[in-house]
Amino acid sequence: MNIRSKLDFLKERLPENVKIVAVSKFHSAGCITEAYQAGLRIFGESRTQELIAKRKVLPDDIEWHFIGPLQTNKVKYIAPFVHTIQSVDSLKLLQEIDKQAAKQSRIIQILLEIRIGKEENKHGFIPKECKMMLANENIIDNYPNVRITGLMGIATFTENSEQIQKEFRALHAFFMDLKSSFFEDRTYFTELSMGMTGDYEIAINEGSTMVRIGSFIFGDRI
Ligand SMILES: *Cc1c(COP(=O)(O)O)cnc(C)c1O
Repeated sequence: MNIRSKLDFLKERLPENVKIVAVSKFHSAGCITEAYQAGLRIFGESRTQELIAKRKVLPDDIEWHFIGPLQTNKVKYIAPFVHTIQSVDSLKLLQEIDKQAAKQSRIIQILLEIRIGKEENKHGFIPKECKMMLANENIIDNYPNVRITGLMGIATFTENSEQIQKEFRALHAFFMDLKSSFFEDRTYFTELSMGMTGDYEIAINEGSTMVRIGSFIFGDRI
């Protein structure tokens, strides 16, 4: 199947409001071009060097999402152009993004990454920590160059679809909770980024608005 037919396959299965973030990490600019020509505009990368190199040679209207662990000292390299940073898992990182976005006179969209999976090494805020931060830091007013547009989560890597469903359901509930507690008048708080190649169908049933699909579109990563 070429990328275009894979995309048609995906679109048939996704509700219209669900965005596809094509996760292109480890794949060449040539592969991205093929996906771009098939109509995709949102691409996800997880390493700053790789993102910067690809961005230089690819069309300007691509919406780049950063989806991997991000060190604060690397933020400045992507701040001039990144559209959304999906993997914000600390106040320190959020503050640095605000600072670098301000230097560029930009507003960078961010998603707060919430730890929903069982793996110990998973990144993300514990829901309670995240709520405490929102309650204590007055983030919405104090950091005007970031805009929190929603949440991101990665489910446990498992064959157990009930477990995955439980985790996505919990993330959706947490999203609704934050929306009513902190973002009631903020119409931009809309995104729930959950679901990858192996679990996107479960994710959309649980209210995902954004799926991050890599291997299905581009094949296995080497
Ligand atoms: C790599 C990655 C994906 C894509 O995974 P696939 O299983 O290849 O679809 C999605 N989200 C994050 C955060 C990733 O790092």
